[in-house]
Amino acid sequence: MGEGLIEFLMNIPLQTEPEGNDMVCTYLIILAVILIALYLGLFIYNKMVIGKKPKQHPCKYCGHMVNAVSKCCSAPVEEKFMAGKCSKCGKETKTICATCKRDLY
Ligand SMILES: [Zn+2]
Ligand SMILES: [Zn+2]
Repeated sequence: MGEGLIEFLMNIPLQTEPEGNDMVCTYLIILAVILIALYLGLFIYNKMVIGKKPKQHPCKYCGHMVNAVSKCCSAPVEEKFMAGKCSKCGKETKTICATCKRDLY
């Protein structure tokens, strides 16, 4: 009886601890994967939405915020520092108002 009890007590920590740690580890890994997936999803979503959405600019002729388009193709402009690139033909372009077609700058 006595020997069996000691064996029983000795086996408890050995049996339960690794299992508990494994469960915590698995849980943490799942949590991390979910967080990374959420972050990546948000990142891709943001990139797609921002990339597709034409940027709004104030037009002095229209007097309100308008969509900016390229002068060459009237396509959305990929904006870079001091210059715009037409998303259709890939050339540097001037940015014009999508409504009145006049220069925005
Ligand atoms: Zn305008
Ligand atoms: Zn173009």
